[in-house]
Amino acid sequence: LPLQMEAAAGAPDLADLRGQPHLRHALEVAAAGGHSLLMIGPPGAGKSLAASRLPSILPPLAPVEALEVARIASACGRLNLVGSGGRPFRAPHHTISPAGLIGGGNPPRPGEVTLAHRGVLFLDELCEFRRDSLEALRAPLESGEVSIARAGSRSSLPCRFMLIAAANPCPCGRGETDPDCGCAPVAVQRYQGKLSGALADRIDILAAVRQPSAADIGGGEGEASVEVRGRVAAARGRQERRLGPGRCNAEMTPGEARACALSPEAGALLAELYARQRLSGRAHDRALRLAQTIADLAGADSIGEDEMAQALALRRRDRG
Ligand SMILES: [Zn+2]
Repeated sequence: LPLQMEAAAGAPDLADLRGQPHLRHALEVAAAGGHSLLMIGPPGAGKSLAASRLPSILPPLAPVEALEVARIASACGRLNLVGSGGRPFRAPHHTISPAGLIGGGNPPRPGEVTLAHRGVLFLDELCEFRRDSLEALRAPLESGEVSIARAGSRSSLPCRFMLIAAANPCPCGRGETDPDCGCAPVAVQRYQGKLSGALADRIDILAAVRQPSAADIGGGEGEASVEVRGRVAAARGRQERRLGPGRCNAEMTPGEARACALSPEAGALLAELYARQRLSGRAHDRALRLAQTIADLAGADSIGEDEMAQALALRRRDRG
């Protein structure tokens, strides 16, 4: 089997994403810690482009991971699961059934979550996906494996993937703050209700994405994947030394997250927000995991106030 360990020449590169520093930062943090990411913004703002570049900033597959991916690909009769950067990239259409997404059916087949193992699963137009499909995604997202019935027995398939999703801010896509958005407030409310029901509680990073400005589009190329991938690999190395081989911050147990080294100022910032916004325990631990990833990217031994503030900003829906 051809095991592609490095990005092929001419593969899609993050340099194609011009401007958009906020989105770039969100992508880099997501890649560095294995965090799930939801991008909210109008059509044409670069959400799909950004998602498709994510594999190119992830570290190359370790040999054991490459074997797992090759085994899945050959079991499915497809040899070419890998996207740029040698990691799988799957972007199923929103009409996909629960069986198509997590596996099963008759005859039973691995689902998209397994095809995305060690890579990226991109759900564009998150609100348009079937509710039962998104519900079916919850358990495999937590456990990293799916159990599917075949010939009277059940078998377990791996599905450790990064979830990246994209959604419009409102039904028309322009966003309430755009003067051309004609969406009725009740329609926006219904839409956003759908959005928060759609796995939003399983997503680590919320990034508001805007249309790139004319200066962005006409400006130079963005930083190339190879540069970003170097920082991501260094941050992942710190995580492996702390957590063990192949593990990253997004997988930290609540106990591990609460054991992160935290400056008193960072702790105070989190405690204040926790009390003021009545964060759930889950949201509290998620903020710690994100802050740890930002500290790992900075090469810092503990989470400072600045890292915590950045982490909390990555959790917030944009308000301009
Ligand atoms: Zn609208």
